[in-house]
Amino acid sequence: MTAPVSKTATAMDKIALDAPIFDPSAFRLSDEQTAIIAQARELGQSIFAGRAAAYDRDAKFPTENYADLHRAGLLGIAIPKKHGGLGADYQTYALSAAEIGRYCGATALTWNMHVCSTLWTGPLADDLDMDAETRAEHERRRAVHYKRIVNDGAIYSQPFSEGGAAAAGGVAFGTEAKPVNGGWIVNGKKIFASLSGHADYYGVLCTEIAEGEKASRRNTLYLALPAKADGVAVVGDWDPLGMRGTVSRTLLFRDVFVPEDAALMPRGVYFQAAMRWPHMFLTLSPTYMGLAQAAYDFTVRYLRGEAAGTPPVKRRMYPTKQIAVAQMQIKLEQVKAIWFQAITEARANPSKEQVLRAYAAQYSAMEGANEIATLAIRTCGGQAMLKSLPLERIYRDSRCGSLMLPWTAELCLDRIGRDALYETDESDD
Ligand SMILES: Cc1cc2nc3c(=O)[nH]c(=O)nc-3n(C[C@H](O)[C@H](O)[C@H](O)COP(=O)(O)OP(=O)(O)OC[C@H]3O[C@@H](n4cnc5c(N)ncnc54)[C@H](O)[C@@H]3O)c2cc1C
Repeated sequence: MTAPVSKTATAMDKIALDAPIFDPSAFRLSDEQTAIIAQARELGQSIFAGRAAAYDRDAKFPTENYADLHRAGLLGIAIPKKHGGLGADYQTYALSAAEIGRYCGATALTWNMHVCSTLWTGPLADDLDMDAETRAEHERRRAVHYKRIVNDGAIYSQPFSEGGAAAAGGVAFGTEAKPVNGGWIVNGKKIFASLSGHADYYGVLCTEIAEGEKASRRNTLYLALPAKADGVAVVGDWDPLGMRGTVSRTLLFRDVFVPEDAALMPRGVYFQAAMRWPHMFLTLSPTYMGLAQAAYDFTVRYLRGEAAGTPPVKRRMYPTKQIAVAQMQIKLEQVKAIWFQAITEARANPSKEQVLRAYAAQYSAMEGANEIATLAIRTCGGQAMLKSLPLERIYRDSRCGSLMLPWTAELCLDRIGRDALYETDESDD
């Protein structure tokens, strides 16, 4: 494979590069993976870090970062090479997203929504069962989506949440797709829809309603609705605690016609993916792996008197600071270890142990990032939490991780506890 050419070489010459979160040699990454991840890290550090405060302050979508991601080929990171993408696998994508999250949480989180539209339809779908005809249809349709992304820089989002039990996987989605000649008519509402008003296509999960049948999760469709289609509206304010640049407003769909080629997966395949490829829901965690590293990095620099924008005053000589940094480092290594293992073993039909580990990894990254950021603020002190520095944004952004459905921190605890104590179909009745 040819390593991607770095488009940021000039900017790179001017700054000292951070070491990768996961050292390629220690974590046995290939040269190809190392090159892709390095490109994400360099873009994050040299360009995105400098823009992050303004996106956060104004709750503004990082449009400029998306133009850079497109130029660098990173909008197509998980698109198979035969379709013009970088052909990254799950692990390579996750490690790259962690590097972006280290410098701009909102960019990494929204990039995740975009990339999943290609990861799930790409390498993940290749692991799923389809008959030859369905596979050929999927191949033809995904080529349409991939071409838009690679050639035109089209941005996809993933609005699933509706405010009810559907996004947690409990019931069928309330957003409905009624089959009509040549496609579907979609009606419904999605809340917390990151990239609202900024994505070109909304990758909507909805339930196909068959005449006379009850809504079923088995009939979930995954459709790319053009943002400009008649009947699509973005409503509501967006002024949250953290992840402000995600612009996660409400989407309304009223009698939106969607052609058949808008299907990101053939009928039944999303349900199969959710059952057989559970790590598909672990992809929100890389952003928070990056935020955990960022909080730690900031603290070390600050205590050494080396943090940009602060006076060069060292505070590292106090034993309490050293103990706090030790606690942060231990937590960071714990998160890194379980998270790396989980993203490495992502595959179809994982064992029960691997699924429990994936929940534990998600919980560890989401809660761990905020624990490390909390310790960072206590340890660095008042001058470090000013809005002129990144730490308070890292703290706020990291607080949002454990709220992300379907694997919120609470739901992870719930599932780990239940699945550890009960075998499938076992009950006390
Ligand atoms: C910054 C940000 C960006 C987001 N972007 C997107 C996006 O792009 N697309 C998208 O689809 N969603 C997105 N979300 C939405 C997110 O996944 C949640 O749906 C959203 O936070 C609303 O959840 P809630 O806490 O109000 O959910 P509720 O369903 O009210 O749940 C509240 C809490 O109850 C618990 N809970 C829920 N169901 C169960 C259950 N069955 N058993 C036990 N406990 C349960 C969970 O811990 C949950 O946190 C985003 C959220 C944030 C904060």
